[in-house]
Amino acid sequence: MFVLKFGGTSVADRAAITRLIEIVRATRQAALPNVLVGTQQDPRGPIVVVSALGGATDRLLGLAAQAGAGDADGARENVRLLLERHVEVAGVITDDGLRSEVEAYLGREFGSLARVIAALAVLEEVSPRWLDAIAAVGELTSSRIVAAALESSGVPAEWVDARKVMVTTAEHTAAPPLMDETEAKLNYELIPLLAARQVPVMGGFVGATVDGVTTTLGRGGSDYSAAIVGACIGASEIQIWTDVDGMLTADPRLVPSARVVPQLSFDEASELAYFGVKVLHPATILPAMAKNIPVRILNSRRAEALGTLITASRPSSGLPLTAVASKRNVTVVDISSTRMLMAHGFLHKLFGVFEHHATSVDVVTTSEVSVSVTVDDVRRLPRILEDLKAFAEVTSTRDLAVLCVVGEGIKGDATFVSRLLKALGPVPIRMLSQASERRNITIVIPDADLPGALTRVHEEFFA
Ligand code: ADP
Ligand code: ASP
Ligand code: MG
Repeated sequence: MFVLKFGGTSVADRAAITRLIEIVRATRQAALPNVLVGTQQDPRGPIVVVSALGGATDRLLGLAAQAGAGDADGARENVRLLLERHVEVAGVITDDGLRSEVEAYLGREFGSLARVIAALAVLEEVSPRWLDAIAAVGELTSSRIVAAALESSGVPAEWVDARKVMVTTAEHTAAPPLMDETEAKLNYELIPLLAARQVPVMGGFVGATVDGVTTTLGRGGSDYSAAIVGACIGASEIQIWTDVDGMLTADPRLVPSARVVPQLSFDEASELAYFGVKVLHPATILPAMAKNIPVRILNSRRAEALGTLITASRPSSGLPLTAVASKRNVTVVDISSTRMLMAHGFLHKLFGVFEHHATSVDVVTTSEVSVSVTVDDVRRLPRILEDLKAFAEVTSTRDLAVLCVVGEGIKGDATFVSRLLKALGPVPIRMLSQASERRNITIVIPDADLPGALTRVHEEFFA
């Protein structure tokens, strides 16, 4: 049985949802017993996980910010526009009865959103808990529209409220799942639907605490939801349907000549996702890897393209590099202490500060007198810097970017690093690191240099 996840662009409008319906229908037909070949695949499913309509999450968080700034009128107007868009997209539901039911649901959801927004605009404060409640409206409503659209196109489908099945901690805006609780709830809710040959449809990204308070898994988290569902239900494949032909050799927005990587290992895919390849949420691979479930990235606009298949291991491509990842808006923190650096316990103390403020560091380099780390999430940086200053000299630099080359062939190629540095050209390197596994090399450079550097590195290794 397959789990199919459709991202924002794959549910952005009526045309996209019509394509989604055909993909789900084709998946069901392919899973029917094949009389000629005599194979009997699991005829159940698929399970469909959807994102909010493309751009809706940004809009929702935008109007939450408006409310926080006390702009009640602006926020109310944006709620109205968002409702209007959802009603327009719900026009894809051909059955009149089903469409009016969904319109009524949209009216209720956006009505309560408007009331929440009005209250928050008075308080001029939006807590993480309310941010989650607001953001969740995107996936709750999109999944409701998609379920009804499938049903009215002759694909028996049943909407599942993600808050009833995805159990998370209370770490609002980036809540990790509680896997045992989630597995129990998913099986309880989905197995009867699957047995009745229904297609369960749920929103990704959204969950709830054990007490039923709405949470979200973090931006881009619908991929993660799909992988969690796949692992808990024991799917045979997790498909991530998006707007590009698969995992590409570089970010196509920065390197237009980037091309599809047909196969990746779980390790490579994790590394690429972790270092900023947006097509996959960084946590997606973990549940899939734990249960050894293949993940496939596919283009919902070109369903016939082969996409990228991610499995435990893959045949060698013969190339030293698999892909180049990049991440912008990175901050480097330099911590130096001539007296203490080599002293016993210094690094423990240093990383303890980051841990205390729940901020993860991505790249780390050390020299005799200093340690440099990169940070993505700078929300708690002022307090982190303050704590570090208690025992070291600290500076931070913004507007940097990470460029990370990933490939199984790096370690076997003695000329690799010199080729890489030559291709980088005259770019000031702020940090450079190669881990012991030697599957990647990570370089931190000024953000303004990233597009040029990425293009040259890509040209050198993939042209
Ligand atoms: P979805 O809404 O389907 O989840 P995302 O916007 O999260 O889609 O991710 C898809 C986008 O990721 C692509 O449109 C592409 O611009 C971007 N992207 C960045 N780097 C890569 C890469 N190496 N391979 C594929 N896509 C990438
Ligand atoms: N809608 C959410 C976001 O935009 C989750 C997702 O699309 O994966 O971040
Ligand atoms: Mg995404």
